[in-house]
This record gives sequence, structure tokens and C-alpha cells, in this order.
Amino acid sequence: MPYVIKGNTADWEAVIGLEVHCQVISKSKLFSSSSAEFGAQPNEHVSLVDAAMPGMLPVLNEFCIRQAVKTGFGLNAKINKLSRFDRKSYFYADLPSGYQITQQYAPIVTDGYLDILDDDGNTKRIRINRLHVEQDAGKSVHDMDPDKSFIDLNRAGVALMEIVSEPDLSSPFEVSEYLKKMRQLVRYLKTCDGNMDEGSMRCDLNVSVRKVGETKFGTRVEVKNVNSVKYAATALEYEIKRQINALENGEELVQETRLFNPNTGETRSMRSKENANDYRYFPDPDLLPVVLSDELLQEVKNEMPMLPDERKAFLIDNYSLSAYDADVLSLEKEVADFFEKSVSLSKHKNGKHICNLMTSELFAYLNKDNLTIEQSFVSEQQLADIADNVLDNVISGKIAKDLFKLLYENPDIRTDKISDIIEKQGLKQVSDTGAIEKCIDDVIANNTDNWNQLKSGKDKLIGWFVGQVMKEMKGKGNPSIINELIIKKVKE
Ligand code: ADP
Ligand code: MG
Repeated sequence: MPYVIKGNTADWEAVIGLEVHCQVISKSKLFSSSSAEFGAQPNEHVSLVDAAMPGMLPVLNEFCIRQAVKTGFGLNAKINKLSRFDRKSYFYADLPSGYQITQQYAPIVTDGYLDILDDDGNTKRIRINRLHVEQDAGKSVHDMDPDKSFIDLNRAGVALMEIVSEPDLSSPFEVSEYLKKMRQLVRYLKTCDGNMDEGSMRCDLNVSVRKVGETKFGTRVEVKNVNSVKYAATALEYEIKRQINALENGEELVQETRLFNPNTGETRSMRSKENANDYRYFPDPDLLPVVLSDELLQEVKNEMPMLPDERKAFLIDNYSLSAYDADVLSLEKEVADFFEKSVSLSKHKNGKHICNLMTSELFAYLNKDNLTIEQSFVSEQQLADIADNVLDNVISGKIAKDLFKLLYENPDIRTDKISDIIEKQGLKQVSDTGAIEKCIDDVIANNTDNWNQLKSGKDKLIGWFVGQVMKEMKGKGNPSIINELIIKKVKE
């Protein structure tokens, strides 16, 4: 079912377009050689250009341009071989030059798309209008002193990519999916770290409502600077309801900019919408047009990794994984890399088995400590070895689980070979029928009632006995041999 909101007078639908700001991964800023690193002391990374000292000239950072081109390829977009920078004038204390350098008239990337899932689980194509490169402003700090405000220019001049969608989104869910997909894409490409908490990815939500069947767009409101996927959905739900209520009460909506308050889940008016001519856009006379050579485009193309959707399909095709498993493994490029490397290092090359060990065991421990796969305490080779030892019947599945726990709790053995750990800790599965039989006899002797019930036909108890024997053998008995021997004994 498409997202339709029932009002008192009609059924309504939402029309939503997003502007996503992604901080470009780059050592230095867009027009200066200052570090673009996050987390430095205030004003530690500020050059004369960033502080807009008179007479200083911007010098374009080619790497940032390559990053934008790469993202453009990732969005299946048109890369414009000629683009330009413009000045967008406004006054604010954290913008020392009095203008932001952006690409208003001739952006570097246009006409792309991103495929997402809609509310019904179908693929929906969201058109991307443009991606342009611009510089970030500094930061005003108002909460350090009751009487003063402070300015931190570390972020001033850092490169941003603004990615503008067409108004193709129709629900809070679609917007969540769009943001997650965008984040996944830029992380695959390593053009932005997608970290919404630290503000390296933020978005403005443009939203209007109209009656179902209406083809004209309604008056839109822009909700500024939303910094989490959850907030985006909450802000939209609130804003959509507010607009419908207003219209149903006969009020007229004004085109305005609103702010989202995460504490109340509400949006409130910040200012009426400025028009493009308020900004006095004009080409920046200090900067030449950006002309991309065919060589540069080819070089960037050669660096493109497999994209998330392709990677997912690749995992399904090459490792016989379910769509669900492939989805989990391809969420992050590094996870898919880890998986594939582990399979390639294993003897049995059983993707499903390695995937299960990763998602059920490894991820549980990593999530517990909020670790990424790059910080894994188990290497690709160790994972491969654990899987092989299970498939070779050297250890049981239960012991495989124990091995993850052992490695997690004992940093000093993390570099050891799995076969050595199994040997040293005596974890080998017991397949010796004599030893197993002795154990079975013990269990039977201690549980005569259950045994008699099993003998008289209560087959369900076989599993129970296997479990008891397994417990007695501390997980080291070979379960299929235990099973076989118990069945044999029942028939005796
Ligand atoms: P501006 O530069 O004033 O922010 P744009 O035309 O670049 O305006 O549009 C910004 C965003 O608003 C785009 O993502 C676009 O899809 C979206 N948008 C435009 N019109 C509407 C509308 N009526 N309802 C919802 N979103 C809209
Ligand atoms: Mg805008």
C-alpha cells in the first residue's frame, strides 16, 4: 500500500525531495592546504584562505573533484566535463568571507538516480537532480559562555558534496531507505564517511502535501539540518500531519524554512524561504572553470569498486547465499571483503557456513563492543580454519561457538593458529565409539525412567539423550556418532 494519510476531508499524499550534504573524505580542504581532519582543537586547522584574509586566493583541491566525480559515477549520473564555482553571498559570523563558494549554475554532476525500497518492498528509482561541490562554513559555539559566542573555523572551507534529489520520495520510510542507501554508497566509494552523528552527513528535507489524485505540487517547507535517519522520519511524520491539518482548517501554507527539535519531535518556523536572488549568486572571479579531462574520468572509473547492489547480486550468484544473507554481508564493503577473503582462504569454500559463523557468532561479539569488522578479534584465516575444522569433523559446531568466545576473551591467543588452539585446549571432537558408548551408558544409568520411555517408543527422547551425552562430553562428542549409537542401543 502506498503511503496515504487519511484526513477529515480527503486522502493525502506527501511529496518529498532531499538535499544531502556529504563531507568529502580528503586530507585537506577544498581551496586550501589546511587539514580537514575532525576533532582538532578549535581553530587549529585554519589557513589565511579559510579565514578570508584580504588578498588570499583559493586553489582548487583536485582530489575533492575526483571524489565528487566518483560519487557521480556511483549515482549513475552524467559527469559534466565543464563546471563552475559561484559565490553565494550571505552574512554570518562563522562565514568570514561573507560568501560561500558553491556550484549554482553549472554543477559537476547532474541527472543520476538511486534505487531504493518503497513501503511495499518494491524497488523505486529516485532521480538525482544534481551533485555539486561547495565549501562548508565554520561553527558558532553559543553554549560555552553565558555572555559570549565563539567561532571555530576548523570546518570552514572543508569540501562538501550537496546531492539534490527530485521530489520523488513519498513517505518517511522511503526517506529512511534513501538516506541509508546514500550512506552505504558513499561509504563503499570512500568519498564520505557517512557519519551522521559527527555531522559529516546531514540533510535538508523539502516536503509538501497534496490530495491524492492532484498533480500539482503544494507549497513546500524545508526542514534544515537533520542529522539522523530516525530524526528525518520523525520530522517528516510531524511535518506532513501539520501541513494536512493546516490545509484542512482552511489555512494557507507559506514557503518557509523550519527547524526540527529532536526533544519534542516537532518542527518550528525559522524564517520565511529566501529566494535565489537574495543570495546574489555570481561566478567566482578567483576561480577558473573546472575542466575534466578524459584521462581523469577514466582514472576515476578504474578506481570504482563494485557498488552495493551489484555486490549483493554477486554474493548471491557466487556463494549460493540467500538474499537476506547477501544483504547483511553487503551492507558494508569491508564486511563483504572479509567474507570473500575468508571463503577464499578456506579449504571447503562453503560460503553459507562461513556466513552463518560470521552473522551469528562474530557479529554478536563485535556488536557487543561496537567494533567494526576491521577491528575484528578473529582474522579471515582463523574464521576459515574454524569453518574447515567443523566440516572436517575435527570439532563440533558447539566447540566452534566456544572458540569465538575463547578468542574474544583471550587477546593473547588471537594470533595463534586455530589448529594449535584446538590441540592445546583439547577441543577435538571425540569420534572414538568406545569413549562415546561409555558415556552413553553412564547417561542411561542415571536416567532409567527416560530410557525406558524411549525404549517403549517415545522417539522424541532421542534428541534429549544426544543432548545429555553431548553435555557430559563437554560438547566434544561427535553428534552424529552419538545419535547413531543411541539408536542402535534402543533397538538392542
Ligand atoms: P532551493 O534551491 O530553493 O532549495 P530546489 O529547486 O533546488 O530549491 O529544490 C530543493 C529540493 O526541494 C529538491 O530536492 C526538490 O526535489 C525539492 N522540492 C521542490 N519542490 C518541492 C515540492 N513542492 N515539494 C517537496 N519538495 C520539493
Ligand atoms: Mg536548498
